[in-house]
Amino acid sequence: MGESADFLVLGAGIAGTALAYHLSARSVGAIVVVEPRTPAAGATGRAAGVITEQLWDRWDVDVTRESHRQYVELCASTQPEAYRQNGFVRVTRNPEAVPVVEAAVERLRAWGVRVSFATPTELANLVPDGSFGDILGAMYGPDDACVTPSTIAGCYVEAARRRGVRFEFGTPVEPGRYRDGRWEVRVGALELRARTVIVAAGAWSKSLLNGLGHPLPLTPYRTQAALLRPEVLRPTFPTIHDIDTDVYVRPEENGRILAGDGTEKVEADPERFASQGDQEFLAHLAGAFESRFPGWRGAEPVSAWAGVCSSTHDRHPFIGAVRGAEELHVITGFNGFGVMRAGGAAARLAKVLADDGDAAATLGSAWSGRLTETVGAFPPRPGFTLEGGDQPRF
Ligand SMILES: Cc1cc2nc3c(=O)[nH]c(=O)nc-3n(C[C@H](O)[C@H](O)[C@H](O)COP(=O)(O)OP(=O)(O)OC[C@H]3O[C@@H](n4cnc5c(N)ncnc54)[C@H](O)[C@@H]3O)c2cc1C
Repeated sequence: MGESADFLVLGAGIAGTALAYHLSARSVGAIVVVEPRTPAAGATGRAAGVITEQLWDRWDVDVTRESHRQYVELCASTQPEAYRQNGFVRVTRNPEAVPVVEAAVERLRAWGVRVSFATPTELANLVPDGSFGDILGAMYGPDDACVTPSTIAGCYVEAARRRGVRFEFGTPVEPGRYRDGRWEVRVGALELRARTVIVAAGAWSKSLLNGLGHPLPLTPYRTQAALLRPEVLRPTFPTIHDIDTDVYVRPEENGRILAGDGTEKVEADPERFASQGDQEFLAHLAGAFESRFPGWRGAEPVSAWAGVCSSTHDRHPFIGAVRGAEELHVITGFNGFGVMRAGGAAARLAKVLADDGDAAATLGSAWSGRLTETVGAFPPRPGFTLEGGDQPRF
């Protein structure tokens, strides 16, 4: 059976669902989203949901602020428990990282981010389970927040559906081909013909784009998080990132905590990866708790899991048209912080797809058109840092 659409979005993580939502607000024609699993079955449903403007790229800050606004609105009426504004703290005891923190505070202030230095005493008030006597540099932003990413994706789905977007879940999607001015994509028994295809398949984007005949330099990688029950339950505190161990901790419901660490610097396969958290990860958390968060020393792991994210050679996402391809676009390569940027990034891509903005200007540092040369294989690089460039120290 054949059907047609103007826009076909491949993937229903937070990027694909946000894109469907923003496109559908622009009256651009028929929109279909296909997803072989369920909404948020990929990295989105496994993410910690931290939103912070403590970023190293101006475009990222603007986009994150826009996402944040959207998530407040989406949650306000029906899902208030999926959003909490708790602030965000970064700390280091490494003298070499101190000037980097200082430069970050100045830079962020110039970009309109409310952020301040924090003393060990202030830190102890903000995060009573921590120990901060040895801290040499710290910054605090009171406006940052946490969300439940799968709930946000669900809100986008429901709102887009109300505007007429069609979603196909749980059906295998084959890569497809471009013929006679249309993309042909097989979704189970359905043959879909679409004017424009947008790949929003997270870590699967690499193999999907290969299958479509238009590879992009992407390296999927695994990262982990755990839910723990501390001995003393704390309803809230700012999310805290220890720059030295790369461990972050944020409050969860019922006084529990959610902790994670950073990039695993080897390529992972989203079809075949260890989805449970491993012992080394839990031991790393325990070590960080021992030295930095003694109040969480005895915290009991409730569950630990992993997800696969997608990294790029220069640590900026790929958003926009794929060079050399007809009517093929992407929104991927979020380098491990796609929840905080998806809403704003998708709004910008929808604007470009609706011919309402210059792609390079609208998509900024994430514009896929920046890729003019062949990029060889590269290891995943830490996504969430204070420094820019492709070799950040902190
Ligand atoms: C442990 C962990 C913690 C994280 N914490 C944070 C955080 O605190 N803050 C933050 O901003 N980010 C965080 N992230 C990163 C964030 O989860 C991702 O950047 C974001 O979810 C990417 O969204 P996405 O929609 O691009 O990809 P995904 O959510 O992975 O969605 C891609 C979808 O594409 C589907 N798909 C696969 N193959 C096909 C196909 N052939 N056709 C169509 N669809 C297909 C998949 O089933 C999947 O549902 C974290 C990630 C992990 C794993």
